Amino acid sequence: MTNKETLQRHLLQLDNRGYKAYKDIQGNYDFSEFTLIIDYVQGDPFASPSKFRVRVPPNIAQIPGEVFNSRSREIALRDYLTRQFDRAAHSISSKRGTGKSGMIAVTGFGQEVLERTSAFIISSNTSDIEDLGGVELRFAVGLPAGGRSILGRQAAEMLCEDIPQIVSNSLKYSHLNAAECRRHVETVEDADWLRQQLAENGLVAFVADGAILPRRSGVDNSPLLNNAVAFQAPPSLKVEFNCPNRGLISGMGIPAGITLIVGGGYHGKSTLLRAIELGVYNRIPGDGREFVVANPAAVKIRAEDGRSVAGVDISPFINHLPQGRDTAQFYTENASGSTSQAANIIEALEVGRKKKEEGRGKKEEGRGKKEEAQYFVLETQLVAISEGDLVPVLLVDEDTAATNFMIRDRRMQELIAKDKEPITPFIDKVKQLYADCGVSTILVMGGSGDYFDVADTVISMDNFQAYNVTEKAKEIAKNYSISRAAEGGETFGKITQRVPIPASLDPSRGRRDVRVKVRDVDELAFGTEEIDLGAVEQIVDSGQLRAIAAAMVYAKQQYIDGKRTLSEIIDLVMADIEAQGMDILSHFPEGDFAMFRRFELAAAINRLRSLSVFA
Ligand code: ADP
Ligand code: MG
Repeated sequence: MTNKETLQRHLLQLDNRGYKAYKDIQGNYDFSEFTLIIDYVQGDPFASPSKFRVRVPPNIAQIPGEVFNSRSREIALRDYLTRQFDRAAHSISSKRGTGKSGMIAVTGFGQEVLERTSAFIISSNTSDIEDLGGVELRFAVGLPAGGRSILGRQAAEMLCEDIPQIVSNSLKYSHLNAAECRRHVETVEDADWLRQQLAENGLVAFVADGAILPRRSGVDNSPLLNNAVAFQAPPSLKVEFNCPNRGLISGMGIPAGITLIVGGGYHGKSTLLRAIELGVYNRIPGDGREFVVANPAAVKIRAEDGRSVAGVDISPFINHLPQGRDTAQFYTENASGSTSQAANIIEALEVGRKKKEEGRGKKEEGRGKKEEAQYFVLETQLVAISEGDLVPVLLVDEDTAATNFMIRDRRMQELIAKDKEPITPFIDKVKQLYADCGVSTILVMGGSGDYFDVADTVISMDNFQAYNVTEKAKEIAKNYSISRAAEGGETFGKITQRVPIPASLDPSRGRRDVRVKVRDVDELAFGTEEIDLGAVEQIVDSGQLRAIAAAMVYAKQQYIDGKRTLSEIIDLVMADIEAQGMDILSHFPEGDFAMFRRFELAAAINRLRSLSVFA
């Protein structure tokens, strides 16, 4: 392996040459304390930057085993090291010429602690340093140019002085703040542990006492500092857990079933739901929501008019559309508020469970008809409250829901007969969803009391404080009967599994390379198709989107064969990633992936406008 001095000389020799000559430096270099790996060199100073890695061996990084000895801790530590490298790079790197010259940057990140491909722990295999870890860190470099020619001296400084300095400051444990690092991994481990406790305690979410839920602004996800009212559980919903690291913690447990969040406008309803919705992820210490956790299969459901829908069976909610349009296999290029919301629910249910284990349900007399339609039902009833299952929990906010999908009141039932209204409102299905499918719902609804009848728990937000008003709401429901007719039928209905047509997912369109590009967290280019994910609110990191795009290409190459259902395909992709890591999604070491959930991968595929499925 070439050493640092050789690289340095080489860079000085390249001074003033055309930018393309940088290509020569691709390769591995021995920097004595670590290995520098140049995987890819950019074509010009304005192109996407060059891809670098450093590998710091265990005897140099000296990371103690205790900060990465569980899966939770390891993921948290990788996130922590990414942030430390970023901090160190910021304080050292500077602009050094045209375009991206001088840039040293690791992947972007926000409040969430996600599994990222920016950093990996290298465990030692020699026994004397058994519980020490090393690090592989992946980052981007803008190789310096003046105009379009190489600035060799600056490049030599960057690569041979700055990078070693950054590595030393951020990837050697002795130079890190050990207490802070510990707090990072312990916080994440506790949050993961809390999330695991939910199901067996009959809960779908937990909001810790003292949590700071509001954010600084609509564009800044850090905690609101001034005037934030800390969360306090209402006594009757208070639960306590004894976390592995921080010990006793108390807070509000939201039980499985149907939960209504009510309260006046601007009293904090949506803020609470948003915190729960992102409680499928872990957060950094100091976020304020570190110990707000939700069932890992919690899915935000909203109206999303304008989206495309590809052959989804929305018939549990929508029937008899004008012009006789089929709702058992519903296609549209331009969904309405209600049809999009119905599709969003069914799509979540479609990929919502982990394994298709048929025949696990107990056959009951007289349920023959229900059976073939609903192996989902039979199965989820059995596993709904067990560990590791992925039966969705639906989260709905009135702010982003279609009113006509949510409610249909007594008077409207009188005026517009059921057979003239294609929509069976959510209020008439929400109980069946829970009874038949084990699907709980948390619903923010300040504008209609009709849901009092179907709710199991009613939480009111009043001046940013939560109260349990279940009994009062039930009392009101009894005293002010709305006597509306239930329109939901006997059962929820069937969840139809779709089989994608391979040709409808063709990102390359005859070209060899698939162009995959992301813009922030909202848009993904998949070949020639643009996928709008602006309404998929649980995608929080552009690294997730990059990984989702790569996973779509992977799914297409490996598993979309015209026989497998969408949920089987997603099962297989997720299982591969779990077994082999996110690196299977790219040809060479990618530092910009962040882990996503099956629901968001499905969401991207489902919004591909070219998608179609077998009839
Ligand atoms: P709602 O959905 O009930 O209308 P929001 O959740 O949108 O209300 O909150 C209204 C405003 O109050 C937002 O600007 C939000 O950031 C702020 N807010 C929410 N919760 C708190 C809190 N606990 N402390 C201080 N401000 C809060
Ligand atoms: Mg609101």
